[in-house]
Amino acid sequence: MRLLLVEDNVALADELAARLRAEGYAVDWVVDGRDATVRAHDGDYDLAILDLGLPGRSGMDVLGDWRRTGLPLAVLILTARDSFADRIAGLRAGADDYLPKPFHPDELLLRVRALLRHRHGTVNTPRLSAGGLTLDEERKCVDVGPETVELSAAEFRLLRLLMLNPGRLLSRAAIEEHLYDGETERDSNVVEVLVNRLRRKLGRAAIETRRGLGYRLRDSTHTGDG
Ligand code: CA
Repeated sequence: MRLLLVEDNVALADELAARLRAEGYAVDWVVDGRDATVRAHDGDYDLAILDLGLPGRSGMDVLGDWRRTGLPLAVLILTARDSFADRIAGLRAGADDYLPKPFHPDELLLRVRALLRHRHGTVNTPRLSAGGLTLDEERKCVDVGPETVELSAAEFRLLRLLMLNPGRLLSRAAIEEHLYDGETERDSNVVEVLVNRLRRKLGRAAIETRRGLGYRLRDSTHTGDG
């Protein structure tokens, strides 16, 4: 899942980016409202965290522009604590949720998770279930039938993406676009390597390959044959 963080408070942005990356999100950070307007169109972002008071251009104008141009990303705005007017204006302009400052990063992480689930039409249960698998996003492990399997950070990121899109074919390019930020070097066969590693852990049938087209999480998983 790839996020755009728009925040001009450097200390706060550093802290949030570190927490979000630790949760397996790819994060691109911009400071300026004008940059944010353009940048959101450059990557296939799943969600933006948008501060409203920004240099260059206000967060409200940025949001208005994103929505006018039909950008489908989920938007969580960061508002001043007592600004009822900002919250109402933000929600009217197309924000999906808001968080008044100051906030605890744990609350932000839970709201991000809920928004991403909602965006993918997935119920916001404590654990994500799809394809016969149950993913624990906090412990980064997955239940396969009665077994609990530990995942590496990279395996976790890919499996979460597949589980948020069960039965849907994802091209390698689309997977890379959602798993890596703009700074990361993309190794051409990393997705294939990760898919193979996940198959060894989850069973061969868990992830289907459509040659030349991409990968998809099977709707129901048969385990024990990998
Ligand atoms: Ca600000």
